[in-house]
Amino acid sequence: MSNIVIFGAPGAGKGTQSEKMVEKYAYTHLSTGDIFRKHLSQNTELGKLAKSYMDKGELVPDAVTIQLLEHEVLQKKPCKGFIFDGFPRTISQAEALDSFLSKHGEQIDCVLGLEVPEEELVKRILLRGATSGRADDQNGAIIQGRIAEYNKKTASLIAFYQKQNKYKAIDGTQSVEQIFSEICAYL
Ligand code: ADP
Repeated sequence: MSNIVIFGAPGAGKGTQSEKMVEKYAYTHLSTGDIFRKHLSQNTELGKLAKSYMDKGELVPDAVTIQLLEHEVLQKKPCKGFIFDGFPRTISQAEALDSFLSKHGEQIDCVLGLEVPEEELVKRILLRGATSGRADDQNGAIIQGRIAEYNKKTASLIAFYQKQNKYKAIDGTQSVEQIFSEICAYL
């Protein structure tokens, strides 16, 4: 089984590349953002809690997110492999994921890091917001908040995975197809 983390700031293209990997490799895609949005649309307690953070561009607390992710993995197993998208986003989440997977005799095999400059991220998110209906993609202050959260809490994961020799940097400003062929060549 392969377990891949697709990594990058908001708007880096994680969802787009995940879709293409699912199509080609039949891995199971787990996006914490999508799972939160599903709860939000069903107005569950978890959805209401997540919304209170998402509306401010902040991360949902680790304890809640880790529990949710582990629950989803157990539900989807057995499968060919997982693509973790939007998780982990903090060092605690990454450590929790490592220990959870090792309990099941598995590990993260690689982390594909889509690297895109900040100005480009903002442009892309606003463009997506025009059609996605996502409230957090339509408000400049929320977008800046998400990027600030990324810089403060998430970017340090690059060093975390580099230390484990698992981080593969990818220029996320290339075309969707160019990025995907780089990913396929690597996998
Ligand atoms: P993007 O990568 O474009 O910011 P996501 O759909 O991945 O979009 O995430 C949307 C929001 O969901 C985040 O801003 C955050 O509030 C919440 N979220 C998603 N994943 C996590 C996570 N791993 N930990 C905490 N909060 C998360």
